[in-house]
Amino acid sequence: MTKDARHVVVVGTGFAALTAVRKLRASNSSLHITVIGRKPEFVYLPSLIWIPSGLRSASDLTVPLDNFFKRQRVEFLAGEVTGLADQGRTVLTDKGPVANDGLIIGSGGRFIKKLPGIEHAITPCEGIAAVEKIRDRLRAMTGGTIALGFSGNPNEPSSMRGGPMFEFLFGIDTQLRREGRRDNFKLVFFNPMPSPGKRLGEKAVQQLLASMKQRGIATHLGHKLTGIAADKVMTEGGDVPADLIIFQPGMTGNAWFDATDLPRSPGGLLKADRHCRVEGQRAVYVAGDAGSFPGPDWMPKQAHMADLQAKAAAENLLAELEGRPVTATFKVELMCIVDSLDKGMLVVRTPARNSAWPEMGLMHTAKRLFEWWYLRQLR
Ligand SMILES: Cc1cc2nc3c(=O)[nH]c(=O)nc-3n(C[C@H](O)[C@H](O)[C@H](O)COP(=O)(O)OP(=O)(O)OC[C@H]3O[C@@H](n4cnc5c(N)ncnc54)[C@H](O)[C@@H]3O)c2cc1C
Repeated sequence: MTKDARHVVVVGTGFAALTAVRKLRASNSSLHITVIGRKPEFVYLPSLIWIPSGLRSASDLTVPLDNFFKRQRVEFLAGEVTGLADQGRTVLTDKGPVANDGLIIGSGGRFIKKLPGIEHAITPCEGIAAVEKIRDRLRAMTGGTIALGFSGNPNEPSSMRGGPMFEFLFGIDTQLRREGRRDNFKLVFFNPMPSPGKRLGEKAVQQLLASMKQRGIATHLGHKLTGIAADKVMTEGGDVPADLIIFQPGMTGNAWFDATDLPRSPGGLLKADRHCRVEGQRAVYVAGDAGSFPGPDWMPKQAHMADLQAKAAAENLLAELEGRPVTATFKVELMCIVDSLDKGMLVVRTPARNSAWPEMGLMHTAKRLFEWWYLRQLR
């Protein structure tokens, strides 16, 4: 590190943050980079879907980042970001303030826990501990009803995590069949939307609903959720009795954003322009689930988008610091394999096309290969 290098701070150790680090380092070898995160580790969230069946364990999906930080010559501060001062030039943390010349925020999203009784449900996308709870409950149950559903952020419909919920649903169905006990269980998929998963495209929705029918999964669709109790999901269209409730609410911005003057979208995310710059800010960028970006209403909250946005954010931040024009933008594309433990349905959506292929064993293999390839780069 040279003595007079500019200092860039990156918040988070997820997809957006680590891709930003790689891009910053590849473009500038003397930059002083500090990452602020809770722990020096990366969790590969897309494979959480394989924890209930035992196909993956917590340690398979958690990559210690010591090697990565060493290779990228990154200083790591283990801490919780709590706010900003000096128009973003100081990041406030529980370990003290950190000054910077430029900032990239990749601190992800937060789930809206407002539905009465939500504590009775497991929110799987919260992380490893939540999914391990599902694994343990499934192991302990001899039969009963499993109700699984998701909803969005009413103020920002794109701020939801629907795809993985179909994967948990189909994965649990496949797992119970493999274990020879599917007949002892009733699976019910609930959703306030009549056509859940609409952002994947019409064809994908039809295929997902057809797959539920074929697997004998009941549906309770199009009714506003009013609450959750220990033994039921309550909706305006009646109750869904259940022994295990798995529910994924919509997402909003991190709590620490409230302690900043950064502009927010209607759904509470950081409002960014097409260059990933937080609107009206100097040298403050955002990438991934933390941001709200201009684009089509189906723009996904996905790791792939987080990576694309992080590259643009890093390139633009360097340009801004060096007095060059800020020009990098990101492609909007939805690429997703809806996995069911032994097969997968590939869905692709770009501004020009939208396709959904029927479930194939090859797609499950492709998802596993992608995981291997992605994690290899961070080890
Ligand atoms: C079960 C599941 C399956 C998925 N499947 C897919 C898939 O198949 N394909 C796909 O592309 N995407 C998938 N996704 C979505 C993808 O994982 C997210 O879109 C992606 O993780 C977003 O990356 P991010 O870096 O913005 O946020 P995150 O990965 O959530 O990272 C945020 C980081 O910020 C840190 N952080 C948060 N707050 C603070 C703070 N105050 N101080 C310090 N650090 C903080 C967190 O600890 C974390 O390290 C899936 C997600 C889940 C949960």
